[in-house]
Amino acid sequence: MPEQSSPNPDELLPQLPVDQAVDAESEAEAYEDADPVRHFLWFQAAPAWLVSMVVHVLILLILGLVTIADPIKIVNVLSANYSGEEGPEVEEFTIEEMDPGDISELEEEVVEPVDVAEAMEMVEPTPMDPMEIATVDFEVTDFASEMAPTAMSLQTVSSLNVQPMSSRTADMKKKLLRDYGGNESSEAAVTEALKWLSRHQMPNGAWTFQHNVVCNGRCGNPGEPNRAKAFNAATALGVLPFMGAGQTHKAGEFREVVFRALRFLVQNGKPGTQGGLPVLDLSEGAGNLYSHGLAAIALCEAYAMTEDPELLAPAQAAINYIVYAQCRDGGWRYRPQQPDGGDTSVTGWQVMALKSGYMGHLIIPPRTIQGTLLFLDKVQSNNGALYGYAGPTTNMRPSTTAIGLLCRMYTGWDKKHPGIVAGVEGLAKVGVLKNDIYYDYYAAQVLRHYGGEKWDKFNVELRDWLVSTQSQDVGSKGSWHFPNSASHRGPKEGGRLASTAFATMILEVYYRHMPLYADAAAEDEFPL
Ligand SMILES: [Zn+2]
Repeated sequence: MPEQSSPNPDELLPQLPVDQAVDAESEAEAYEDADPVRHFLWFQAAPAWLVSMVVHVLILLILGLVTIADPIKIVNVLSANYSGEEGPEVEEFTIEEMDPGDISELEEEVVEPVDVAEAMEMVEPTPMDPMEIATVDFEVTDFASEMAPTAMSLQTVSSLNVQPMSSRTADMKKKLLRDYGGNESSEAAVTEALKWLSRHQMPNGAWTFQHNVVCNGRCGNPGEPNRAKAFNAATALGVLPFMGAGQTHKAGEFREVVFRALRFLVQNGKPGTQGGLPVLDLSEGAGNLYSHGLAAIALCEAYAMTEDPELLAPAQAAINYIVYAQCRDGGWRYRPQQPDGGDTSVTGWQVMALKSGYMGHLIIPPRTIQGTLLFLDKVQSNNGALYGYAGPTTNMRPSTTAIGLLCRMYTGWDKKHPGIVAGVEGLAKVGVLKNDIYYDYYAAQVLRHYGGEKWDKFNVELRDWLVSTQSQDVGSKGSWHFPNSASHRGPKEGGRLASTAFATMILEVYYRHMPLYADAAAEDEFPL
């Protein structure tokens, strides 16, 4: 049965239904902001909701065993001794509504200039202010790691007994770069790409797919106009390559870039409550749940890398929104709990966000992961070697298969699983697709985790092609735009910014995440 709203599964930011179109004029007016000073601080615009959120999350962490939506399942995972008697008592404790006044006030205040040309004139200094909210003193890591769904889990670096994201530290980065097929040229390309990206950040910390406005047309190929206001998506794609290279808001030469990006995302999210939990909604009219997934990855990675307590509440609240938004079939679509079920493309970003949250020891309900498995079962064929868009036969593309396989790797299938073996075989046959960077991005991760000759071959072709196609022109130096990407709506819609972000993250694939199947690492322990 053909998919109804049937977007191209390769697209990064699919068309919205007409009823979701945003009123451009009114939104533009709402974005005016006369007080740039306010932007210097993370949360000055909204101390009330943030404090409320911190308190909520704190309470949740302390009482978390019984406050997650499905308490019995959670507790069963964690403890065989659950009596079931504590639930109601604690529930009274946590059903504290946020003051609606605070929220509506916030929605008016947390606005960013949409007129990017005007914004460019507002050249702000960007001091790294102390983050004032960090007065709540608590240690979350140890306790939260007990909360993490180890039994039904995202398979992650935690299984390798290493610190989350330690792959991005300088020494480990060098080792992984060498072991997994990066080289000096690919690293030089990443360096140039980060420079291009930093030149295209707006003073308020955001990126826009209309990057040509920021650089005054020094380079071309902006995204499509209907994505102009997808600031959360653009900002997440702008900042993720920095974090992939090990840059955080705490350390590294680009820390101010990362800081301003994270601050923008936190301020631009819509706080609320769903099912008694604080949520931070980063979806947006021009980018729907794609935007949320991407932004949630950014917040969760930043938290996992730094364990900055300032980011705990926003990152957990972004995860909570994903938990809330899951469709009944276990997937995710453009809108929360969309009745027609999930699609592989949107689902992929949410699963990546859950994985990043898991690496930061955030609370991920096991039933959310169980739901994801059901969705993957629903869209797979050939025993899990192929994945469709919204069903096993709908719009199956190389990209949907690559996404499905990566989700499988992260949710527990090991290297010998027949679905992984046959799926990887298939991707290796498809090879590098020079008109589909979105596919390449996912396929590179799948094959890199799998390793071996298939990865070597794929990597050399993809790496050298990207290095050779990076722009050397004065205006656009360090960026990518793929002239053959017209049929691939992701880069087409997201323009040069999206292409550059994907290409950069591909060239960071060697060290961006620890390998799931660490054959090589084990061998290295006993060098011959
Ligand atoms: Zn530009």
